Amino acid sequence: MKVKLRNPERLVDVPGPVSVHQMLATLDINPETVLVIHDGTLVTKDHVLPDDARVEVRPVISGGAGPAKCTHCKAPSIIEIARHRAAYCADCFTDHVRAQVRDAVRRYDMMSYDDRILVAVSGGKDSLALWDVLLDMGYRADGMYLGLGIGSYSDNSEKIVRDYAEARGATLHLVDLAGEYGYDIPQATGLKGRSSCGVCGLSKRYAFNKVALEHGYDVMATGHNLDDEAAQLLGNVLRWQTPFMARQSPCLPRSETMAKKVKPLYRLGEREMAAYCVIKGIDYVVEECPMVEGNTVLRYKDALNELERHSPGTKGQFLFGFLERARPQLFPDGDPEGHRLVDCAECGMPTTTPPRQEAAGTEPVLCAFCRTRGRILQVVQKAAR
Ligand code: SF4
Ligand SMILES: [Zn+2]
Ligand SMILES: [Zn+2]
Repeated sequence: MKVKLRNPERLVDVPGPVSVHQMLATLDINPETVLVIHDGTLVTKDHVLPDDARVEVRPVISGGAGPAKCTHCKAPSIIEIARHRAAYCADCFTDHVRAQVRDAVRRYDMMSYDDRILVAVSGGKDSLALWDVLLDMGYRADGMYLGLGIGSYSDNSEKIVRDYAEARGATLHLVDLAGEYGYDIPQATGLKGRSSCGVCGLSKRYAFNKVALEHGYDVMATGHNLDDEAAQLLGNVLRWQTPFMARQSPCLPRSETMAKKVKPLYRLGEREMAAYCVIKGIDYVVEECPMVEGNTVLRYKDALNELERHSPGTKGQFLFGFLERARPQLFPDGDPEGHRLVDCAECGMPTTTPPRQEAAGTEPVLCAFCRTRGRILQVVQKAAR
């Protein structure tokens, strides 16, 4: 059979018939990290693939094993979620995703049906799935896409997001990083002290918040899932970055200059979000961002997936235990360093005072975004000369 693998995209031959489980073992692929698609349908580990099958192994990271029948309605299952010791048919799986989002919204009082919600949409599986779930559940959700200028990867992502918005008749805000702020992500490569992904994350947070405030949105929603949040927490714990740990929450309240920020997918894994998109026929960018090399979070995801493979539920216990038990005890008052908020001298957005400037108390304070942008623009101008 022909098996299509991604990142990099290639076709390999595997003799059949074999079960999905055997095929993955032959290719030395951790079943936790992929979905297997045969004839456009998701298949579970015991499904037998004939010799003439054309199969796609789609990387997602996460997952597990379980019974072959839907735990809820006993129809044939198409996906197993070891963490829940459950398997689902397509309809019950869609219900499961919505139930997890409802649960997240209720636990943290994230949003109401009256709120205007801005969803940060990148073209990846998580943000498109989030937008789709919120629209299906009847929320007033608009999208925003930030063009990062990463060659064909960005062109492809933008087209996917535009097509989705058009198909759903949904409102989409398009912002171009270079057009609005004078630089793109490839130009930010090699900046001392900040990786491309660091600059990218900072730029996204800044631009999304700006649009949310300018257009009067009540809530800003991002597609961060269980894997993202658990990996972030692991990174923070490994370096004991307590200010970041204090701020790590699926719901950060609104302030005068920051829109309320919510992560309604924090109880759902990456593999679940990829499966949701396949089931709902949502086209999303499967290729990896070519600048992903600098993304340390991926290493933490790999480590957590290895633990999850042997003890399903580890990621959830790690993250939910922190959010529900450790965080309220450790950080009852939020930021343990008690940073003072001041207005950025350049853009007026709130920022914490860096310790050195706090001591001096004289220089104008710039926010992290304006400081970083200033450094990138210097590099860009130098290169243009
Ligand atoms: S991999 Fe890094 S540079 Fe690429 S989109 Fe993600 S954060 Fe941005
Ligand atoms: Zn079912
Ligand atoms: Zn600023």
